[in-house]
Amino acid sequence: METLKGIAVSPGIVIGRVFVLDDERRRIPRRVVRPEQLPIEHDRLWKALGASIHELNGLREKTRAGLGEEAAKIFAFHLGMLCDPTLTRPMHERIDAERVTAEYAVWKGFEELLTRFAALPDPSFQTKVDDVRDLSARVLRHLIGEHSSRLSQLKHQAVVVARDLTPSQTAAFDRGQVVAFATDLGGRTSHTAIFARALGIPAVVGVGHVTQTATDDSPVIIDGDHGVVVIDPDEATLEEYARRIEQRATASLTLRELASLPCVTTDGTHVALLANIEFPEEIPTAVDCGAEGVGLYRTEYLYLTSTREPTEEDHFAAYKKAVELSQGRTLVIRTVDLGADKYTQERAEEPERNPFLGLRSIRYCLQSLPMFKTQLRALLRASALGPMRVMFPLISNTNELRQAKFLVNDVMEDLDEEGLPFDRSVPVGMMVEVPAAAIMANTFARESAFFSIGTNDLVQYTLAVDRTNERVASLFNPAHPAVLQLIKEVVRAGRRNNIPVSCCGESAGEPDYALLLMGLGLRTLSATASSLPMLKRAVRSVSIQQCERMAKRALSLDSDAAVAAFLRDQARKIIPEAFDGRSAE
Ligand code: PEP
Ligand code: MG
Repeated sequence: METLKGIAVSPGIVIGRVFVLDDERRRIPRRVVRPEQLPIEHDRLWKALGASIHELNGLREKTRAGLGEEAAKIFAFHLGMLCDPTLTRPMHERIDAERVTAEYAVWKGFEELLTRFAALPDPSFQTKVDDVRDLSARVLRHLIGEHSSRLSQLKHQAVVVARDLTPSQTAAFDRGQVVAFATDLGGRTSHTAIFARALGIPAVVGVGHVTQTATDDSPVIIDGDHGVVVIDPDEATLEEYARRIEQRATASLTLRELASLPCVTTDGTHVALLANIEFPEEIPTAVDCGAEGVGLYRTEYLYLTSTREPTEEDHFAAYKKAVELSQGRTLVIRTVDLGADKYTQERAEEPERNPFLGLRSIRYCLQSLPMFKTQLRALLRASALGPMRVMFPLISNTNELRQAKFLVNDVMEDLDEEGLPFDRSVPVGMMVEVPAAAIMANTFARESAFFSIGTNDLVQYTLAVDRTNERVASLFNPAHPAVLQLIKEVVRAGRRNNIPVSCCGESAGEPDYALLLMGLGLRTLSATASSLPMLKRAVRSVSIQQCERMAKRALSLDSDAAVAAFLRDQARKIIPEAFDGRSAE
């Protein structure tokens, strides 16, 4: 038996058998064929392209039905490329000109395309690099076979173990076959992790060497609640996890029943629980989980799944849907947060040296004005259809906020001139996720309609810990006293200036941390929909005075480990079911 620790990115516990998806990029050797074999190579290429197109059409339909139109666009992009003769004709030409195999022609064709994409300065093309690799692997699979094509023929349910997975691979998983996954690489905020959560597939990433430890068909336990992978578990461990699965099933039924109950503390204080979403289609599920609205809609997914630069109408359609599905509930739409981990830096020809400190989020938008204004126009037009708020990510200085707000006004004037309706008083706020913004919260609060604290980035930038790097994951601790001090200041600034403050980082979804946030004065928490039922149970089990006492004591401690242990200890007493099976480490 071997127990490996990784990063829990999608909750749930699964006992299954391993399927190692060895998807490392491989170089296809250049093999010359006899002239009489050329027609056979052309035929193989036609068939592989045809089979890939057929497969992609199926995946697009399946994803559209399960995750909605936006998510399905990733496959529309793949289809568009495969049907484009400017990509496939040169492959046929190469077969004749160089007398090579179809697989070499395909591999070479995609490699050349990758080189061209990587050389383009527009970062939106970098988001496509993974897609091109994915597509190349798909066509090659149909030519020479590969593990992942075997995936669809699995007779038993599988736990996929891979070095890394692309978002499209994850989105294409058959939920009936792939019951969980674990990867060597990755962090909690990777697209793959976000897709896993949207699909409800338990997952652990950043395990380090799970592909070296696991072999096909070995029994495995994936604990997506606590980020644990157990390979070849012994009898006692299997029994223990079987018991936990049963407990979980009973608990989740009762948790669902909580959805309709008010989210109030034992002393009657209301705490609003909102959902973080990537696609508008997630809103009904979030509401079923007890969400009172959406606290963070990450609109960059429109870019990451789109076949091309989204038009104003693409934006508008997505926001219109979000407003409609929200039915008057809170809806905070964040302007695009592209850059850093949201596109593949390492494969770009000239990657930024420090992408998380580079041209990302609002900085990228302010340097890409036509793109930004297109989004703002669509957002404002959607504001005429129902309540919504606009939020800017990664604001680090007042000029950025002023510039972004100036652009909103500019767009309002344009819409006025064109006679298009919009809500003139749409609240415009900002994320507080850079220490500079937290330290200057009092200044920002005078010019921002609301704050949303983003602990994912606030922790990363305060503690100088890359949030996607599994090697420093143990240092990524939202319980660090420095982070607590910053949150305290932001809440105080919000109060002083009478603007609402919420928290939408992943840690807001952890019951122990949520109690601390409530004690620090927060009354609105936004988290992944699946974490909301347990959060509501935590809120309903505690009084505000208890939370305040917890926060006071936490603020007096001097290390992240001490704060984390204290919070866990306190929360375990208040809501033990949230910690079932978690060791007291
Ligand atoms: C955050 O940084 O906490 C946040 C919610 O934004 P994102 O995870 O999209 O960067
Ligand atoms: Mg962020």
